[in-house]
Amino acid sequence: MSSNFCPECGGVLFYDNLSRRYVCKSCGLYATREEISDIKERMKEEEIREKKKKREYKEYLEWWLKSNK
Ligand SMILES: [Zn+2]
Repeated sequence: MSSNFCPECGGVLFYDNLSRRYVCKSCGLYATREEISDIKERMKEEEIREKKKKREYKEYLEWWLKSNK
């Protein structure tokens, strides 16, 4: 069996030979290998964007705290 995990919920993915798609039994994700790698790629980019945003907020907050004494 495959050792793939669902990019949405982390559940185990099962490969359906008939439709040639992966199925997640936890959340119902149903996608081809290409679609799954697309989702993973997108989530990685989102994570990087999130981290960048949080850093910007933090920097702004520090600046704001310093300039408001
Ligand atoms: Zn899932």
